[in-house]
Order: sequence, then structure tokens, then C-alpha cells
Amino acid sequence: MNTQLLDKNVADSKKRLVSLVQESQKFPTLHLEKIPVKGYEQVLKVTDKKSQLTAVIAIHDTTLGPALGGIRIQPYSTFNDALEDALRLAKGMTYKSAVSEVGFGGGKSVIIADPKTQKTPELLMAFAAAVEKLGGSYICAEDMGCTTEDVKVIRRVTKHVVGLPHAKSSGDPGPFTAWGTFRGIQSVAKKLYGTESLEGRKIAVQGLGSVGSSLVEFLFWAGADLIISDIDTAKMQKISAKYNAKTLPVDQILKAECDILAPCAFGGVLNDQTIPQFRCRGIAGSANNQLLKDTHANALKERGILYAPDFVINAGGLLNVASELEDMGYNPSFPRYKVHHIYDTLLAIYEIAEKNRESTHTAALSLAEYRIKYGIGKRVIPPTYHHTAE
Ligand code: NAD
Repeated sequence: MNTQLLDKNVADSKKRLVSLVQESQKFPTLHLEKIPVKGYEQVLKVTDKKSQLTAVIAIHDTTLGPALGGIRIQPYSTFNDALEDALRLAKGMTYKSAVSEVGFGGGKSVIIADPKTQKTPELLMAFAAAVEKLGGSYICAEDMGCTTEDVKVIRRVTKHVVGLPHAKSSGDPGPFTAWGTFRGIQSVAKKLYGTESLEGRKIAVQGLGSVGSSLVEFLFWAGADLIISDIDTAKMQKISAKYNAKTLPVDQILKAECDILAPCAFGGVLNDQTIPQFRCRGIAGSANNQLLKDTHANALKERGILYAPDFVINAGGLLNVASELEDMGYNPSFPRYKVHHIYDTLLAIYEIAEKNRESTHTAALSLAEYRIKYGIGKRVIPPTYHHTAE
């Protein structure tokens, strides 16, 4: 063997060893404690005295691929609240990933901290060290309270992260989620009226943020008759003028008389109080966890309201960010194709629900479970990280 090459290999492995030791010394107080939770592959309480980190990393299921899920940074009142949120969100990611066939499993992490006052680079890096210790079984991304700049800090310690603010990254997931939601609205129209055309259909959109504002634009060009609402009245008036949309106060939008209601603001909007008041024929929006409880899906079914399950219709952002880890690198055309077909998945779910006389939510859950059971959409090529630390 070439002796120069041999020397280089020895030097490289020495360098690696030194940097490994340095890394571990940077986080001398980092502690990972396993919390046994039935039905979950791995749940960890992560603490680091030095940076005052307390976090939970929940890996629900990795049958179809490594767990992928965001980091939520929130000042939870108790550790149990944080744990419950992480568990619920991680499980949701398993189902969302399975239905969208992205070749990932479900995971999520939460950091107990006020993102405005307690989020320090030290805290983020200690958290990243915990992610690194998991060796790629959990890949993190931004979520509420966590920005792309924070992701950049995390990348200094671990490569197991997506959504960095650079040219090779997938960027803002909002428009992809919005296009998937638009296609979901078309699927509801197809099922209800026999045509996906939205020309003249009354669509009510609650929330005009990153997703809602793009959605309104798509709906406008499809000829929909728009009703919108947002707590930010200045933004609402601007969008109303641009797209000739009728506005409603925030406490009226869910009761709007319309063909399809699109909740795009926050979760829990489908509940005992709201369901009897709905005056729509279908519900198709981007918000996560729209059903306050799973049983509310049955209440919608009883009222004859067609519901596009949230974790299916809002998977556009996930499809986009996941494609960053393809071996050929990020190419927006790839997720575009997949997001477009959310329409077909939803039509199949309505069909299954009708045949089995069950709610669309139950049908979507069964479809996800079926895919996990038979390994449909299982990852064959390990994720490829195309980014470097800055
Ligand atoms: P966002 O924070 O950009 O926008 C939310 C909007 O809702 C804001 O304009 C806010 O003013 C408005 N709002 C808040 N309370 C309201 C109320 N009571 N009535 C009317 N409007 C109200 O969020 P986003 O990224 O657009 O996401 C919207 C929803 O979709 C969230 O539930 C999010 O979890 C979900 N989602 C988003 C993505 C994504 O790619 N951004 C992906 C999947 C799911």
C-alpha cells in the first residue's frame, strides 16, 4: 500500500478522534435518560445543566425510515405537558410520513424554553449533541419557536438536520403545503360535485399565514368565490383587496356558509362546539391536529361533512423538506410531483371510508398502518446530507 496514503489515513483518524473528544468535552453535563413509553421505539429526556437545556426527543416508529420531525421550542408549564406534546406529535409524523411515502418514520422533539428569551446557541448546540448521539435515527428540522437560523447553529454539532437557510435547501415549506391543500380542496370538490373545478365555489379560509396566503392565491386563479379571516386585520384587508375576497370576523369564519371550509390557522377547530355550527359541505385545510379528539371525525361524518384528513392534505411541506435528503440533492420538481398527487391519495381515502362506512380520518389511519405493516414506501437508499456546517 502507498505509504503516503497510509500516513494520511492515520492522520485523518487521529484528527477525527481529537475532534470527537473535543465535542464530548463541550457537553460534559449532557444527559440522556430513557423514558419507557408503550408503542414508542425510543423516548428520551435530554438535560444539560451547563446550558440549562430540558428537552424530549420522541421516536415513534422507524419501520419505513429514520424518524423525521421538527423541534418545537415552547415554555411548557410542566415536563409532562412537553412529554405529551412530543409523543402526540411524533406519532402524527409516523402517520403523515407513511401516507405520503417519503421513506421516513415519525419523531419529534420539544425543548422547554421561551424562544424569545431562553433560546441560546449553547442550548441549541447541547440539544444538537443529543441528536448526534442518536446517530441518524432521528433527523430534526425547524418547527414552532425554532427558526432556520437556529437550524444553522444545530448544524455546527450534527449533520442530522434539514431545512438550513442556503441555496441547496428546500426553503419555505409554506407554498408546497398550500399547493397540497389546494389539491385537497379539489379532491373534496370532485367527491362532492363530480368535478374538481373550483369555478364559482365558495371557499372559506381561516388564517392567512405562510400557507393560507398562498392558498388564497391559488384559489383565486381557480375562480373560487373567497371568504377569508385573520386576526391580523391589516393583512386580511390587503389580501381581500388583492383577490376580491369577502372578509369575516375571526369568530364568524368557521360558521361561514360555504362549499368548503379551509382551517389554516391552528389545531382543535373541529370540536363539540364548532361541528354543530358548520354550514359547509366539506373541510379541507392545512392546520395540524384539526380534530380535537379522533371521535370528532365521526361527528363530521354524521353531519354529512366530507373531511380531508389533516395529516394527508398538509403533507406538502414534509414532502418538500424530505426531498432534501435524496441522493441527487434537492430538486423542487420532485416534491412538486408528489404534492400534486395528494389529490389521488385523498380520493382513495374517501373511497375506502365509504366502503367501510367509517370516517375519512379512520380510513387514513388504516392506510398509514397498512403501509407500515407491509413496508410500503420503505427507504432503500439512506438519507444523503448535502449540507456542511458554516
Ligand atoms: P402561520 O403562523 O404563518 O399563519 C397562521 C395565520 O393564522 C397567521 O396569519 C395568524 O394571524 C392567523 N390566525 C391566528 N389565529 C387566528 C384566528 N383565531 N382566526 C384567524 N386567523 C388566525 O402558519 P402557517 O405556516 O401558515 O401554518 C398554518 C397551519 O398549517 C398551522 O396549523 C400549521 O401547523 C399547519 N401546517 C403548516 C405547514 C407549513 O408548511 N407551514 C405544514 C403543515 C401544517
